[in-house]
Amino acid sequence: MTNVRDEIVYMDNNATTMVAPEVVEVMIPYLGNLYGNPSSMHTFGGLVGQDISDARRKVADLIGATPEEVIFTSCGTESDSTAILSALRTFPEKRHIITTRVEHPAVKSLCENLEMVTGHKYRVTRLKVDAEGMIDIDEYEAALTEDTVIASIMWANNETGNIYPVEKMATMAKQRGILFHTDAVQAVGKIPLDLKNLDIDFLSLSGHKLHGPKGVGVLYIKRGTHFVPFLPGGHQEHGRRGGTENVASIVGLGKACELAAANMEEENTRVKRLRDRLEEGLLSGVSQSRLNGHKTDRLPNTTNISFEFVEGEAILLHMNQHKICASSGSACTSGSLEPSHVLRAMGVPFTAAHGSIRFSLSTYNSEEEIDYVVEKMPPIIELLRKMSPFWKGN
Ligand SMILES: *Cc1c(COP(=O)(O)O)cnc(C)c1O
Repeated sequence: MTNVRDEIVYMDNNATTMVAPEVVEVMIPYLGNLYGNPSSMHTFGGLVGQDISDARRKVADLIGATPEEVIFTSCGTESDSTAILSALRTFPEKRHIITTRVEHPAVKSLCENLEMVTGHKYRVTRLKVDAEGMIDIDEYEAALTEDTVIASIMWANNETGNIYPVEKMATMAKQRGILFHTDAVQAVGKIPLDLKNLDIDFLSLSGHKLHGPKGVGVLYIKRGTHFVPFLPGGHQEHGRRGGTENVASIVGLGKACELAAANMEEENTRVKRLRDRLEEGLLSGVSQSRLNGHKTDRLPNTTNISFEFVEGEAILLHMNQHKICASSGSACTSGSLEPSHVLRAMGVPFTAAHGSIRFSLSTYNSEEEIDYVVEKMPPIIELLRKMSPFWKGN
């Protein structure tokens, strides 16, 4: 990159990622000549079926699963809903769900619906988090009861990057006959996962968060775990998810998983160093700024920083003029001025929660981009503070 100002500086990878050029390349034939239906009896369709099998194996390899444990869905949100609803149908007599206060809306809204739409037939425990956004394992243990159907705990948080001890939590659930689901959409491809010897029953992932295409996800279902399909239909996915396969996206996701495995080392060294350089540069370059999230138990690509007494949306607009893309704490609920439910759960003060910005990097970021952002941010914050009625600093 010769001049970053001519291009965008993309630091919003927890919202979505660039589709890797290698992924685009493997997808193109399925948008053209290779339009066969994998369920057809003729060779033309059968070949496509073979390519889906290859993709399934690549996904399985990345997460330490077997191909039979992988079913393709339309997105991470579908995978989350499918897992939780399957558990409820498996144990219709049980009525209690455990989750956290910091889940992605895919799980959060489903649980709210389950309470509201069913007239509180279901009871939901939402685990608290501390000031650094971490869960209290004792509170979790105490919440596991005879009536609990499933615990759904995200592997890594999309806003702070915090990583939760799901391996241990899954074992605690299993010992009591309770199913365990994890939304691993942010974890897959960023930290190594190996499901082989874990007690996790269900895991969700999504293509577009790991340089794959949008509109394709995966639900991992542990061998032996009882499963009730969300979309009955044809015999696709061995009768576990109806609907003709989104072949191009599935093949693309397979490639993305292969690339993620190859880039894992770099993600945890070079990308992490870039993230740390950005974080240190911003925290030292801007007065009254603070990190939201855990200092170490965190994804290598994410940093969430509050700039006190300024508005996140205003900061983003100014960053946008410098072609820098990131998210604010209220990005998910755009249009409302409510700060993010994650930062509120952490007890981040109002003045800081409003001015929070999430930077999420990828292997496509460069050191030059980091230095550019570290240079551009302090004057933006200074300018906005001068206009802020709350700012009493210098
Ligand atoms: C993006 C995201 C989802 C939703 O995935 P989609 O494929 O966009 O439906 C779910 N959970 C987390 C943690 C996410 O970051």
